[in-house]
Parts: sequence; C-alpha cells; structure tokens
Amino acid sequence: MMALTHGFMALAAAVFLLPVVGEYAGPAVLAAAFLGGLAPDADLVARHRKTLHFPVWFSVATLALSGLFLLTGLSALLILTVAVGAAALHSLSDVLGGSAEREPWNPVTENGVYNHVLGRWHRPRRYVRYSGAPEDFVVCLAFAAVAIGSGLTAPAVDRALIALVAFAGVYALCRKRLATIGAVAGSLVPTRLRAVLPAVSVEETETDGTTVDIRFGR
Ligand SMILES: [Zn+2]
Repeated sequence: MMALTHGFMALAAAVFLLPVVGEYAGPAVLAAAFLGGLAPDADLVARHRKTLHFPVWFSVATLALSGLFLLTGLSALLILTVAVGAAALHSLSDVLGGSAEREPWNPVTENGVYNHVLGRWHRPRRYVRYSGAPEDFVVCLAFAAVAIGSGLTAPAVDRALIALVAFAGVYALCRKRLATIGAVAGSLVPTRLRAVLPAVSVEETETDGTTVDIRFGR
C-alpha cells in the first residue's frame, strides 16, 4: 500500500481516538498519527518492508507506551504512543497488500512484511495487489474522507490533505510506468548535471525483497 494510504489510515483511526483523549494536544496527536503512519516506508531506500517495518515490536511498544501514558498522563507520551501505534498499524496492515518487489503486479516473491521475531517474511495477502493499485487509491480516498469529514482538522490542513489525495491519484495513474518515466526523465538530464546527482538503483533479491541503493558523487 502507498505510504499515504497508511498515513490516512492512521489519521482516520486517530480522529476516533481524539474525542476520548480530547483534552490532550489534539492537532499534535493527529500529526503524530499521520507521520507515524508514513514513517516505516522510509525504508524504501534500504530493505523495504524489513528495515523499518516491525509488526511485533511496534505493537509491543504501543502497548507499553499506552500503559505508561495511563500511569503518568503526560501528553508527550500520548503523542509518542500514537506515532508508534500508527507505525504498528502500518507494519501490520502491509500484510494485506502485495509483495515487496519491483513489479508486485507480476509477483515472483512471497515477501509481504518481515517479522523480525520469527526471522521470516509474512506472506502477502494481496487484497491490495500493489502500492498505487486502483484499489489502493480507493482505500486511500476512503480513509482521507473519514479524516477530513470528521471536522477535527483545520481548513488549511484539509486543503493540504486534499492535495495529497490528488498526488496519490496521479501516483496511482503512473505507478506501472514509473520505471519508464524515471528513465526518460533521467535521459533528459544533461550529462554534466548527471555526475552530481545521486545514482539510484533498484535491486531485487530472493530473500530480502527490494533494495533501493542511492549513491552520491559518481
Ligand atoms: Zn510499508
């Protein structure tokens, strides 16, 4: 699933949580949910769905932090709990998506999400076949509608969220052609400039899913 789908999923969950914890830093809780929901996909530049996806540890940490928050009532702890909880939700729900590989619409691996406790990959359930699939965008749109429709976000934030939904839509439209678009864009960059731009290579491995390698200064 797209990072944005996870961000909106966490945000939609947070708007239900907010009335319960309303007296504590509302906008900060919502921001923590959204950013925590996006965060695990930062491992796209490492071992995707392994380096920063921790379905078990994020869940355990969320429970521990919730307990600490209930004991202390510190709003900073609540914000941290929500952020880690959103990352846990992301890591767990990625199992419902496709495999972590270059062309998940033509799957050759069964790598859904890595479980560091069991030391193996969870099989992808493929309810959402790949990140940027039409059904991924529909899920993204539905969660965004719940979040924006809650009326708990400021109008300026709503405009930013709508812009992100539009971006997700364009991404979904281009998803299968991203490699071609990247190659064409790359060939349009002048040779002299190319020397200072980072080199990005995507590698598929049988056991670790997709590795994206970025090198600076060729
Ligand atoms: Zn992910």
